[in-house]
Amino acid sequence: MAHYDTIIIGAGHNSLVCANYLALKKKNVLVVEASEVCGGLAASYEFHDGFHASVAHQASHFPLKIIRDLRLTEHGLSLSRNHNACIGLDQDGHHVVVQGNKVSGVPDIELDAYKRYHDLMIRYADMLAPFWLKTVPPIGNNSIPEMMAFAELGLKIRLLGKEDMREFLRMVTLPMYDLMDEYFSHPLLKSVLSWDALIGSKQAPRSPNNSVLQLLYRMAGDSHITLEVPALIDALQGAAVSRGVDIRTSSRVSNIEVEQGSEGISATGVRLESGEVFTADRIVSSADPKTTFLNLLGAEHLEIEFTNRISRVRDQGLVSKLHLALSGLPSFTGLTSAAGRLFIAPSLEKIEIAFDNAKYGESPVEPVMEITVPTLGNPGLAPEGQHVLSAHVMYTPFKHKSAWDEAARTGLTTKVIDAIETYAPGTRSLIIGQELLTPVDLESRFNTSGGHWHHGDFALDQLLMMRPTPGAAQYGTPVSGLYLCGAGTHPAGDITGMPGHNAARKILS
Ligand SMILES: Cc1cc2nc3c(=O)[nH]c(=O)nc-3n(C[C@H](O)[C@H](O)[C@H](O)COP(=O)(O)OP(=O)(O)OC[C@H]3O[C@@H](n4cnc5c(N)ncnc54)[C@H](O)[C@@H]3O)c2cc1C
Repeated sequence: MAHYDTIIIGAGHNSLVCANYLALKKKNVLVVEASEVCGGLAASYEFHDGFHASVAHQASHFPLKIIRDLRLTEHGLSLSRNHNACIGLDQDGHHVVVQGNKVSGVPDIELDAYKRYHDLMIRYADMLAPFWLKTVPPIGNNSIPEMMAFAELGLKIRLLGKEDMREFLRMVTLPMYDLMDEYFSHPLLKSVLSWDALIGSKQAPRSPNNSVLQLLYRMAGDSHITLEVPALIDALQGAAVSRGVDIRTSSRVSNIEVEQGSEGISATGVRLESGEVFTADRIVSSADPKTTFLNLLGAEHLEIEFTNRISRVRDQGLVSKLHLALSGLPSFTGLTSAAGRLFIAPSLEKIEIAFDNAKYGESPVEPVMEITVPTLGNPGLAPEGQHVLSAHVMYTPFKHKSAWDEAARTGLTTKVIDAIETYAPGTRSLIIGQELLTPVDLESRFNTSGGHWHHGDFALDQLLMMRPTPGAAQYGTPVSGLYLCGAGTHPAGDITGMPGHNAARKILS
């Protein structure tokens, strides 16, 4: 029976980041992945003959630190130092374009407001940036290094000065709707600026408390660097293999093996569905918290209170993915190119109404969405001259009234394509293949509870030292030798590698 220093469950990008850091320190690492390929929700795969896509289509705040530490450019990763254009689509072609500190397509009065808003938000995002790469200490009885982490955050906030500090504390709990109203009046501009505050969690423009924080998370640090998702996964996988990491795909873990000692239980290995058992000094799981603790470990090995808290983690996804295989390039009215992130979300009110439908288990009557055409940056994803259109469709409930029967799936697909057709007439006639992934499909295809973007809502009660829950929020768990390294841990999901980075630091310490 093979024995390793560390076995990592799952080969999502966080697991690959963690494996690379451990391998750099000469640890003997095995990664076991249920799917046929690496990458998890960021994996590229063929969804129609010759057409490839990944569920996550955009990596916009992956830290330069990780790229440098792991020397990913030596493994084929190239960095584009441009902010992606974010384009709020208008039916008549009067689009709003936001790109970094620039905005166009809005009246002059909005330009001044945007400058004030952008400068302030970047200041706050920069202030928070270092904390996403830290372990957030638990509350109470802290060691001196842990106290220093709190002190550093306190100092950073103080350094803002009294007025900005007060404004930060006020703004961070505001609903996006109110924040946008304070600065802007253009409906499309408000939608574009709110998108990253909302997508992936159970939040709508009028929801209080979390959305501004999620936006600052996504604006943090190196957000001017955009990466091709397939190239990032290839680089992480290539780097890991070159450092000696053993990666086994099509290897689903059926349970984590434990041993009872005098001081409680400890994790000693994994058993695969095939029956094979591998042992290690420590087991690290990048699977979501419910899968890790309730399915792979088993509640019988946990305190009831901890099990209850894990059972309560809110992780029902709200985002669906539509991939279209197109025989040609879609042409959006008033745009010379479909490059960038294109939003169909005419106003905050329309976004809120789509959320209201989801609250009652219904598909949105008028879906709001983000579209990209990844073949514009990476023509190899489709046969020559043909294209992939990739759409994140917001507010499609995991628990659909119909349990996502065929009629609900067809209804949603038709509505999304109708909406795209309104802004890019003729697109429907280019469709030669399509794939819709609802949160239920995402759960079963990608082994992620609830098909949730972040493996658990980005919400104040599930963040920082409470992510996923006290007792497992510093990457260690109540079970000796068992660690977490996926999106369900601090700071959260998105293609950032930060949970994997932080978990590796904890393990190596
Ligand atoms: C619809 C959608 C669109 C998204 N779009 C974007 C985007 O454009 N940009 C962005 O930054 N983020 C996006 N995200 C979020 C992002 O994809 C995730 O937050 C991120 O990929 C999580 O990475 P991870 O490595 O932590 O986990 P995952 O990618 O989920 O990887 C976990 C891995 O563990 C494996 N696993 C689970 N159980 C087992 C088992 N028993 N045995 C073996 N292996 C197992 C899974 O198969 C999986 O490969 C999107 C998410 C969704 C749902």
